[in-house]
Amino acid sequence: MERKRCIIPWALARGRRTAALVCLAAALAGLAAWLLLRGGGGIPSPGKGLPAAAEGLTDYRVELRLLPEESALAISETIQYRNGTSSTLDHLVLRTWLNAFQKEETSPAALEELYDACYPEGFSPGGLALYNVEWNGQAANHEFVNGDETALNISIPTLEPGESGTLFFRCLAKIPHCAYRTGYAGGCWQLGNVLPLLSVYGDGEWRTDEYTPIGDPFVSECANFHVTLEAPEGYVPACSAALPREKEGRWQGDLPAARDLALCVYERAAVAQGKAGNTLVLSYAADSGEAKRALEDAKKALETFSALYGEYPYPTLSVCKADFPFGGMEYPALCMIGKDQYLAEKSDSLELTVAHETAHQWFYALVGSDQALSPWQDEALCEYAMLRYVGKRYGQGSFEALKYYRADAPMMEHVPGSLTPGSPISYYNNYQDYRTVVYGRGAALLLALDDFLPGGADAFLKAYGKEFAFRLVSRKQFEDFLNAYSGLDASPLLLDYLDTLM
Ligand SMILES: [Zn+2]
Repeated sequence: MERKRCIIPWALARGRRTAALVCLAAALAGLAAWLLLRGGGGIPSPGKGLPAAAEGLTDYRVELRLLPEESALAISETIQYRNGTSSTLDHLVLRTWLNAFQKEETSPAALEELYDACYPEGFSPGGLALYNVEWNGQAANHEFVNGDETALNISIPTLEPGESGTLFFRCLAKIPHCAYRTGYAGGCWQLGNVLPLLSVYGDGEWRTDEYTPIGDPFVSECANFHVTLEAPEGYVPACSAALPREKEGRWQGDLPAARDLALCVYERAAVAQGKAGNTLVLSYAADSGEAKRALEDAKKALETFSALYGEYPYPTLSVCKADFPFGGMEYPALCMIGKDQYLAEKSDSLELTVAHETAHQWFYALVGSDQALSPWQDEALCEYAMLRYVGKRYGQGSFEALKYYRADAPMMEHVPGSLTPGSPISYYNNYQDYRTVVYGRGAALLLALDDFLPGGADAFLKAYGKEFAFRLVSRKQFEDFLNAYSGLDASPLLLDYLDTLM
């Protein structure tokens, strides 16, 4: 997630295109999308790699009921977990990110630079009330183990490597009135990071990082999701999983091999839909013109990145207009795009934001990384991919013009303190520095790699995506793979760009 950017004059280099929006056509497209999903017949089959990737993964069966009058989402969750670690486990850790919204002191949206935009009517608390936490049908002891109550330790009888069990719980998720990736705002229930997910286990322990306000602290393994959603009549749900409507007010769908599941449930929305390759792209916005514009941008981005970095794996991609003071936020098969990006005078900004967020489908969703400790590993790759998108679609002049603003200028900016692109997100205290260092200077690393590698950075990133699809990749694995792929020693270059103060 990133703050909105200032004006980007890349269009000057390519000449402004006219956006011909035919409202009737868009309205018909919206109706067609609704009919397709209503019947379920329009959802393409998943890409070739998805069924194989889904085998043996943790399984989440999730029943959701949106209760607008109570500003709440009732969740019933059954997690079939197999101990895939090499350790004997006596507890699991569940990430309960929504609990950070209980208090101003811990809410990521209460950061001073965000507060007024996120809480225009004052602070509004959110959080989870848990019930019936059970392991294999027996009540399981549980307690929060970090300061903002976003990590829940659940005691279980010994679970040896390879053994499986079932975790069940119900909870009432109180959704804050908050213009954020998690919150109700502008007639939409923006439900990112609301579902409790298992944390990641490594080096003999479960991760329990707190919810830092800058960047995206979420790290999770791919899993299979089976979802049902109940919402009031007339509501329009967008979801990481394609959700065909079963009957009025009830939807059901699956999402295999994904590392999270997010929803935007609108009181009212226009929907535009179209195909990019075999992917059904769905765009949700306030009116059909807006929905169609974002749809076209998402289709172009999907086509460009599929050609550059390999096949997009999921059957659908949903692009959701969101009320928050950010450019966008990525989830598997779904991205939220900030409402200001849809302003008519910002069509370039919308296109670039959609391109950046769509690139996350490759670098975050498909190839996961440690977003808390190594944020460059998805953000810098997506900024670079966005620049490549511009180059592919609009030519070298546009690429160079945008590269100056998004990568060259950040290299010359003064950033106080000792921040480098290799710093963890907890080192940052404002979005300006985060954007300059992680996005800008991080993208400069990829541009340097593009010069360094005989076959260029795109071919490397395609090979990287193929090698690590559906996995979590550490910085060391990235580095080792880069050196093995190129037959060169790229480590000094990484050190120079990621860890060296300017
Ligand atoms: Zn990003």
